[in-house]
Amino acid sequence: MLCDGRLSTLRSKLRDAQVDAFLVTHPVNVAYITGFEGVFDSEDAHAAVVSSDAAVLYTDSRYFDSALRASEGTPWQVVLAKRDLFVTVCEDLAQEGRSVLALETSVPYGRFKFISEQWGGNVAALDQLVERIRKVKEADELRRILAAQQLTDRTFDHILDWLRPGVTELEIALELEFFMRREGSEGVAFPPIVASGPNSAFPHARVTVRELTQGDFVKLDFGAVVEGYCADMTRTVVLGAASERQREIYRAVLDANLAGIAAIAPGVPGRSVDRVARSVIEDRGFGDRFGHGLGHGVGMQVHELPSMGPRGSESLLVGNVVTVEPGVYIPGFGGVRIEDLVVVEEHGARVLTGSAKELLEL
Ligand code: ZN
Ligand code: ZN
Repeated sequence: MLCDGRLSTLRSKLRDAQVDAFLVTHPVNVAYITGFEGVFDSEDAHAAVVSSDAAVLYTDSRYFDSALRASEGTPWQVVLAKRDLFVTVCEDLAQEGRSVLALETSVPYGRFKFISEQWGGNVAALDQLVERIRKVKEADELRRILAAQQLTDRTFDHILDWLRPGVTELEIALELEFFMRREGSEGVAFPPIVASGPNSAFPHARVTVRELTQGDFVKLDFGAVVEGYCADMTRTVVLGAASERQREIYRAVLDANLAGIAAIAPGVPGRSVDRVARSVIEDRGFGDRFGHGLGHGVGMQVHELPSMGPRGSESLLVGNVVTVEPGVYIPGFGGVRIEDLVVVEEHGARVLTGSAKELLEL
């Protein structure tokens, strides 16, 4: 079963941390560690308890039947919590004679306090335990991410016909969403960014009713979701013929993107890849116009581990899926970002993004 390997990895981490029981409550981590398909949404309504000899999901009546069905043939036991989820969990664990209960550090302070009071015994907080397992993708997860990226690439092909003067950013963003969902996306990995002209100088611009204008940079950042897994891609085009300055900026970003991809290998810290790409942009004189990190992990969430920013100290591992997305943003003029999705393999990066990267002049 899908969840067996995940559970045994988590259990070995729990042994190292010397905790008896670990309470997983982050909705994405609950979905991951149980491996249950089609049961969970974004609702924070579950508690998955993993100990050396048990794996129990506590949930409420809205999810109980589907969780029970999904658990068939797995090591998971599903419990319908008739009272408060955490009161039930603490009572059951106390009965089992557990002494150290570990929570995720992402637990809100109020809940941490409540559970600590209910529990009475030792409470530990473990940082990003499940997240660190999630960052190394299994073959089936890679298949899903690739399918999401391929749908995202088809969406880019489709939207090129829509990019013309007079159409608003909002209309483009809507069509991106319509197309992705019509083609099978379960939603959007994040609200699409469509930023034109001077708006493209904002790395995470909000979509506006601005009409696309001849000569604009148009920056599109979006991603589909397939079988619970996200894609993430950015392309920047020019409406009409590009100016010399636009070409110069685009070339700097494209060269940084290519250098970053070439620098990826197992064992290399994320920040070293960031440094390689960033120095390309610095050498072209745009160093102070690239403020964000080079990339981030992608999976069930669009932003996850590992980090490929200037402080990304973790070394890349085979099976990590990361973005490579340098950008140059000139206030009042416009900006360019080129973002690819890659998987780290033994001999380097394999690019999952299929869309061309040469400057398109539409
Ligand atoms: Zn993106
Ligand atoms: Zn991204």
